[in-house]
Amino acid sequence: MSDVTFQNNVLDQLLSGKELPSFKFELEKSKGKVIGDSFGKEATVEQLPISKGIAGVSMCIEPGAMRELHWHATAAEWPFVLKGRVRTTVINPAGQTETNDFDPGDIWYFPRGHAHVLECLGKEPTHFILIFDNGYFSEFGTFSITDWIGHTPKSLLAKNFGLPESAFDGFPKEEVYFARGAVPPEAIPENLQGPRVSPPETHKFRMLAGAPHAIFKGGREWRVDSTRFPISTTVTGVILDLESGALRELHWHPNADEWQYIIEGDLSVTMFGSNGRFRTEQLHVGDVAYIPQGYGHSIENIGDKRSRMLIGFNTGTYQAIDLSAWIAGNPLDVLATNFGKPHSCSRSFCARTFSYRQINNISSG
Ligand code: MN
Ligand code: MN
Repeated sequence: MSDVTFQNNVLDQLLSGKELPSFKFELEKSKGKVIGDSFGKEATVEQLPISKGIAGVSMCIEPGAMRELHWHATAAEWPFVLKGRVRTTVINPAGQTETNDFDPGDIWYFPRGHAHVLECLGKEPTHFILIFDNGYFSEFGTFSITDWIGHTPKSLLAKNFGLPESAFDGFPKEEVYFARGAVPPEAIPENLQGPRVSPPETHKFRMLAGAPHAIFKGGREWRVDSTRFPISTTVTGVILDLESGALRELHWHPNADEWQYIIEGDLSVTMFGSNGRFRTEQLHVGDVAYIPQGYGHSIENIGDKRSRMLIGFNTGTYQAIDLSAWIAGNPLDVLATNFGKPHSCSRSFCARTFSYRQINNISSG
């Protein structure tokens, strides 16, 4: 998580204007980088300037292809698999490696700087959404192995590996990004160096394999933070399902920014930014949205079928405060004076707020 004190002491030009900026980007309608039938589309501060704390990528890898060996200097990686199967291999600074296979509904977490590779497994393409804990991170500025080796003098490579310079003839000169070859074997092949030494904490979590974290009238959510997935110290993920007409009530997050991706349905997201600033965005399949840390917001299913949203927070410890709980948690005289209403009115408002929560609302558990 970024330094909260630092953030609060720096004037954010984008968020200090008279109007709130747009907080929506049509990610799946963008072009991104395409190689063969694989693609990567990204939402960084470039495409969605408000999203300084979190970047996102939609990636599709065709059968036999892989997102080549690389690392990220400035972000941890938290992906959710939508379609197909993925195999990942990752190394940590202790030299321990882990290779895992993923199905739809599974997630992984790679800490900042830990090198990895993503292979499409099987004969169907795979599609997944990657969340990064830094909005300035670009998926097209990663540290790729072909880029490094292709730009290092052969004499240096020869000395480094104790091999003749000719051993490096014919290597790619530029970054390959998506490497294309045979479909990987179903059984995980052995490593070049032999037996693996597993890391103490796994990088894999089967997010949708278990029951929802909470079920509400009108919705349900699966939430995974570092209490359930210990290696994920900087990202919390949520799958939020809302029935037609259901509302995730007005609330805010004291300790994190929120990044949203629409998997299914049509939603209306509101944002309150102080100083009379309020903005609404309508989101459809493939769109992303972003709510800065501490900003008030709500999420409503305005379509006629169940919606599904992937949400990422740049914290390993989930926190939220709901507006109705805040109001209900105050003395009656405070509410009466604050709103300029008689006590009786405050009391009934309070009672209604509670019954509304129980009957109609989805709120975080
Ligand atoms: Mn990566
Ligand atoms: Mn929220």
